Amino acid sequence: MELQTIAIHGHGYFDEQTGAFIPPIYQTAMFEQPGWTRKSDRGVDLKYSREENPTVRALEHVLNKLEKGSDALCFSSGMAAISALYLFLLSKGDKIVLPSEAYGTTIQLAKELSKFGVKTVTTWPETDQIIEAIDNNTKLVLVETISNPMLRVIDIPQIAKRCQEVNATLVVDNTFATPVLYRPLIDGAQFVVHSMTKYIAGHNDVIAGVTIGSSAEEIRKLWDWRRRLGGILAPIEAYLVLRGIKTLEIRVRRHCESAQIIAEFLKEHPKVEEVYYPGLPDNKYHTIASRLLNGGYGGVVSFRIKGGRNEVIRMMKSLKIIKPAPSLGGPESLLTYPVISAAMTIPEEERERLGITESLLRLSVGLEDVNDIIEDLDSSLKNI
Ligand code: PLP
Repeated sequence: MELQTIAIHGHGYFDEQTGAFIPPIYQTAMFEQPGWTRKSDRGVDLKYSREENPTVRALEHVLNKLEKGSDALCFSSGMAAISALYLFLLSKGDKIVLPSEAYGTTIQLAKELSKFGVKTVTTWPETDQIIEAIDNNTKLVLVETISNPMLRVIDIPQIAKRCQEVNATLVVDNTFATPVLYRPLIDGAQFVVHSMTKYIAGHNDVIAGVTIGSSAEEIRKLWDWRRRLGGILAPIEAYLVLRGIKTLEIRVRRHCESAQIIAEFLKEHPKVEEVYYPGLPDNKYHTIASRLLNGGYGGVVSFRIKGGRNEVIRMMKSLKIIKPAPSLGGPESLLTYPVISAAMTIPEEERERLGITESLLRLSVGLEDVNDIIEDLDSSLKNI
């Protein structure tokens, strides 16, 4: 089955009694336990919705098939997925390697684990430097396929090879690429995580996360951590994601097409200093992105304007269609100011070195008509 068909039919739900083929919202806290316990198809007890819920399970089937995994677990947010993985995989004395440009809270949480004796090493966010930092003491490596907000593309197969040499577990945050553009498990990662809040749910109305694993056994162990930590996705949220995911490929293709057009437009704009988009032929990551990503370069474009915070505020204030807001991956175009959002928790000095300065903006290109997005950008840029 191809990706777009999986996105629609991959849940496998069918109710013989009624003929319904859309998974319903099992809005129930508990399940009957009359001296014996029903099992979910994972083989675990179906008795309490903090542990297992059929609507959530239906979504897990779709996600697992999309990422070509062995099993999946949905969480109440991307961070709930990441924190459960950290607690599951790491013990006192272990070392975790992260690029210094990753989602700020992912890095911050890893650093906080020092109080439990876990050592976090951050490296320059390029494939070679990440590989250099991985040694025999490394237990866990977490990388993002496309970094945020500078949109550096990491050579996941190379990182996976190095992890295999030293027996480290590789976790790939595939939020920006989605399984439409890249599937890290095929290239040797052990776990994929998503902030489903972004492209997977795709409608800017849900907070959700998922972990997909190459081993069902490992996911079964992680299931116990989800159960203990209490971070399972709510059934109604799972239903919304199931609904949103049906158009995943169509949406991602359109996001990519519009982003390419907008990156080219911004590159020529007199108020724009620099554009960061791997789809531009002169972008440093164009070659690796063309090799790794499946016919698209993502729906996010970052750019540096001529000016600083005051000019950014003037631009934000004059937007008419694009919303000045954090996040990405939904139908509404969002213009994000990284120094006050995703990158806020990265120390200022580090941020500057990475290029995340007060003149940098990140645009999540939405599904509006591309000409309307361009017109909004053009007129607001003229105001700075
Ligand atoms: N990973 C990436 C790449 C993100 O951008 C985010 C949030 O912005 C997260 C993880 C965290 O996800 P959530 O906000 O759903 O907890």
